[in-house]
Amino acid sequence: MPLVSMRQLLDEAAKGGYGVGAFNVNDMEQIQAIMAAAKETKSPVIVQASRGARAFAEDLYLFKLIQAAAELNPEIPIAMHQDHGNSFETCKSAIELGYTSVMMDGSLKADGKTPASFEENVEVTRRAVDFAHERGVTVEGEIGVLGGIEDGHGAGGSGLEHVTDPDQAVEFAELTGVDALAIAIGTSHGAYKFTKKPDGSVLKMDILLAIHKRLPNTHLVMHGSSSVPKDLQDVVNKYGGKLKETWGVPVEEIQLGIRNGVRKINVDTDNRLAMTGAIRKVLWETPEKFDPRDYMKPAREAMQKVVAQRMTQFGQAGHAGDYKALPIAEIAKGYANGSLITKPLVAAK
Ligand SMILES: [Zn+2]
Repeated sequence: MPLVSMRQLLDEAAKGGYGVGAFNVNDMEQIQAIMAAAKETKSPVIVQASRGARAFAEDLYLFKLIQAAAELNPEIPIAMHQDHGNSFETCKSAIELGYTSVMMDGSLKADGKTPASFEENVEVTRRAVDFAHERGVTVEGEIGVLGGIEDGHGAGGSGLEHVTDPDQAVEFAELTGVDALAIAIGTSHGAYKFTKKPDGSVLKMDILLAIHKRLPNTHLVMHGSSSVPKDLQDVVNKYGGKLKETWGVPVEEIQLGIRNGVRKINVDTDNRLAMTGAIRKVLWETPEKFDPRDYMKPAREAMQKVVAQRMTQFGQAGHAGDYKALPIAEIAKGYANGSLITKPLVAAK
């Protein structure tokens, strides 16, 4: 199957009432782990690359790997997404490579650190939407600012400093025409999200519910949504790691989100922990080993296990065969003739 428009993939998820995990990739083993999990659970999937990933792997290596994944798994719908594009140029370069979706993160200025004004965010996001939709490519925007830093991207600080204002979310969706909307509800990037199991004082599910009430048809995106389970932390620490105790976003909160408009859930940290734990275990238990395959194979298997588990928990499992990918040119026509609606439905307060 050719790469799928993320908009089509999310529209289908909305119809089916499930969420779709968006998993970050940097190398071949991670891509293989995700595809093996998608095959095992029969799931449509979003694969995403940050700017850091594109620099680490080099654009062409990474994109050709994704093309190989699509060729080898014709029965799996795959959307290839730019995670946290910091500028119009970053999004444009991803689109020109063949990505079927981009995130224009205008919540921060192009330095990827300083919070931008609402007007700046609208302007750069609108520009990305115009360019992308003409080419059939999906756009995710962000309103409010996530906490923490990942791959050098982020405002730092706690996730509670720039929580999304529901009225602003409505205005932003109307002014930009984005296909998916990332919101800030207290989550952070990285492993250190919460210092205890999060409750409503730090994980603002009430804000998510309020936004969904006003924008009932808008696809919402949860960032920083690894669950950081204790068993994965324990493996890392058992074999010489030094992670401090930490909590992520509980799966049941994500499932509450999915019942209320969340269609894309970003997961990276859990996979990093799974791979690192597996590699540490091999090197700790058999220090005489030096063939990378001896630890990359268990690392890949550990990541596959976590991804397959999330796919089942998010509800995307079993949905790979529900639809055929529309050619991107057809999607572009849909945006041009209005059959793909970009004006959000807004409900009264
Ligand atoms: Zn993010």
